[in-house]
Amino acid sequence: MSAMDTNVITGSSEVVESLRPSRVNPAGVCRYCLRHGCVDVSCVEIYEATVWTVCAVCGGTEYVNGHLDREDAAERCSSNRCYGGLVMWLGKAV
Ligand SMILES: [Zn+2]
Ligand SMILES: [Zn+2]
Repeated sequence: MSAMDTNVITGSSEVVESLRPSRVNPAGVCRYCLRHGCVDVSCVEIYEATVWTVCAVCGGTEYVNGHLDREDAAERCSSNRCYGGLVMWLGKAV
């Protein structure tokens, strides 16, 4: 219902389970509780339940249309759900 939700996944709808970003980002901070060095079981469980797919906005490059036009690929991916070129697959209800 939100007009801001422009991140509809289009095109390829394959979900490859092996695709997933790490639960902690490269700085070592948990994506769920935002604590450094988190080993919280509930965060791990949330993470294990998620399914990820390649971001439709950037095609996994993290740059807008980076996969379509390398010359124009100077802008960072505009999807706020994009983590390292992947987005969480929302087609799976929990
Ligand atoms: Zn955590
Ligand atoms: Zn992206």
